[in-house]
Amino acid sequence: PPIVLMRGIAKYFPGVVANEGVDLEVKRGEIHALLGENGAGKSTLMNILTGIYQPDAGEIVIDGYDAHFASPVAAIAAGIGMVHQHFKLVQAFTVAENIHLGWSQTPRFASARALEARTKALAERFNLDVDPAKRIFELSAGEQQRVEILRVLAREARLLILDEPTAVLTPAEARELFKALRRFREAGNAVIFISHKLDEVLEISDRITVLRAGRKVATHEAAACDPAMLARLMVGRDIVLGDY
Ligand code: ADP
Ligand code: MG
Ligand code: MG
Repeated sequence: PPIVLMRGIAKYFPGVVANEGVDLEVKRGEIHALLGENGAGKSTLMNILTGIYQPDAGEIVIDGYDAHFASPVAAIAAGIGMVHQHFKLVQAFTVAENIHLGWSQTPRFASARALEARTKALAERFNLDVDPAKRIFELSAGEQQRVEILRVLAREARLLILDEPTAVLTPAEARELFKALRRFREAGNAVIFISHKLDEVLEISDRITVLRAGRKVATHEAAACDPAMLARLMVGRDIVLGDY
């Protein structure tokens, strides 16, 4: 079975249809882009998948089993980790401390050196270069994002959800991230890559699901897509591509 199957998902806020009738299938070994304009409902759908919001309708099936997560902790326990646009790092703590913060599998009295060694091994495994002894406030936004990703991966995530991850990255950092995501996928894991940028979605993803005004418009193989077609799906009419 696919890692994720969401069917007929709806979520309403006062005066807003954030999601309605949304289907999403994510397979093992796939990088799946969730593409849509600002307000299309991308983050809401992922907040539902990860137990932050409860849906008003619809089914969620993980690995073939019914799964509605009551909290983000429950989603993480099932191997689903999300990296949000706004990081949840403790600025005064080190990289190693942040990665292991609140993790039940960390020995309670592990030394700083042990945590740093564990962090280094993790960083090497996923090809994400970080200095475990640095404090968060010393890091660039791109480096902070790597810490946030490693924090999720340290909890044995099999599905990594990234919400507009390149917004805080330089082009060189974005390339490094894409390399790390491809390596993660090769191990049979999956990635959901949220974006409103056509070029990067075409570059990094295997399949693309387009959302518009809270609804799913289409899912296509990335190889069968081009920018003009995606823009039309995303906005609902022909547009000048330079705007995206
Ligand atoms: P996207 O991530 O595609 O930009 P969102 O899922 O964040 O879109 O938002 C979809 C719609 O739902 C928007 O109109 C947004 O304002 C609304 N929305 C999202 N979260 C909330 C919330 N917690 N309360 C009220 N409205 C919300
Ligand atoms: Mg948004
Ligand atoms: Mg969003």
